[in-house]
Amino acid sequence: MKALGPIPPGFENDGEGRLLIGGHDVETLVEHAGGTPLFVYDSERIALQVRRLRTAFPELGLHYAVKANPYAPLLEAMANLVDGFDVASSGELGKVAHLGLPISFAGPGKRSPEIETAIRAGITINLESEGEAERALAICKREELEAKLAVRVNPPFGLKGSGQKMGGIPSQFGIDHDRVPALVRRIVEAGANWQGLHIFAGSQALQADALIELQRETVALAASICEEAGQVPPHVNLGGGFGIPYFSKDEPLDVEAVGESLAKTLTERPKILRDTKFAIELGRWLVGEAGVYLTRIVDKKESRGKTFLVTDGGLQHQLAASGNFGQLLRRNYPVAIASRMGAEAEEEVTITGCLCTPLDLLADEAILPRAEVGDLVAIFCAGAYGLSASPTGFLNQPMAREMLV
Ligand SMILES: *Cc1c(COP(=O)(O)O)cnc(C)c1O
Repeated sequence: MKALGPIPPGFENDGEGRLLIGGHDVETLVEHAGGTPLFVYDSERIALQVRRLRTAFPELGLHYAVKANPYAPLLEAMANLVDGFDVASSGELGKVAHLGLPISFAGPGKRSPEIETAIRAGITINLESEGEAERALAICKREELEAKLAVRVNPPFGLKGSGQKMGGIPSQFGIDHDRVPALVRRIVEAGANWQGLHIFAGSQALQADALIELQRETVALAASICEEAGQVPPHVNLGGGFGIPYFSKDEPLDVEAVGESLAKTLTERPKILRDTKFAIELGRWLVGEAGVYLTRIVDKKESRGKTFLVTDGGLQHQLAASGNFGQLLRRNYPVAIASRMGAEAEEEVTITGCLCTPLDLLADEAILPRAEVGDLVAIFCAGAYGLSASPTGFLNQPMAREMLV
């Protein structure tokens, strides 16, 4: 037996064992969508997360990192909730350009035509290298444009206990902190509209203490860079990194504690940052728990004493649940038999997708209610880094459907 991750709080059933998402039972949702596999995103849950975050961080701008979930109806809903979008490709830019919010464009390897498009659209470019800065400045000179440029910093520290460490190491992201003051001076002297700094040092933190320390270090670093550059930054983007519980024994992040500490850090901030506007950018924490992946059991079989439930979904839609998206050790996501909620967990099963690879595991040796062919399986925590972070072309299976309720 292997433990399952914790189902996010607040999911109920309709009294007949069917999981409810946003007040709708899963069979009705699947029928409306036209079949399985199906991602359902609950807009009310997203709005609640945003409200909780706003309460915890009343003075901060809140940006949504589009790469966590770029489903168009979700982006439209998000446009009414946050202060800006962070994109990491011109494809993502195309998905939010019409929504009317401020946009910043980060990510390594921006091509010159993408940079020019972003400059013309008045989008803030978070520069990832000196080379990128020079290309942006050359475009401005040639086309007689003014660019909004911010500098992404590769800090000398990282997020402790983070799933993906992105600071304090050699990196394709950002510019090493000790070279940033010179670049800031260069940008300002070239006549660009310098927007400030962007410092993003990791993802999926569940420890409030680690984030509190990171944000303290980040504010201090921003101040020392700007003092050395002799420039006051209009904006400082403090990054994000807020995690959600996926696995057994994961505890939810205490965002209120992080907010309280950041407020104190900002009250005591160095003078050079007195008029600076601060923002955080979040993806996973805002949308991750709002998504459920629904897939139907098409076969049930025994093999050498083990029971397999084979579904019509798999890692081609929900790679992270299979353990192949950056995890060192495969552990089970929160999973349930969505047509038998509340029934006694009595059968040990391994749930797979329909791909011809043993990597395609959705739950391994889990104790669940007895399920049969035709039942629905729910994989929770599927709202972030789900469909768009999965190899949808692998094995040429049908695309998953998506739906916002
Ligand atoms: C991916 C990314 C984010 C979002 O990270 P989450 O862990 O989903 O909150 C924010 N900022 C940048 C620059 C990113 O690349």
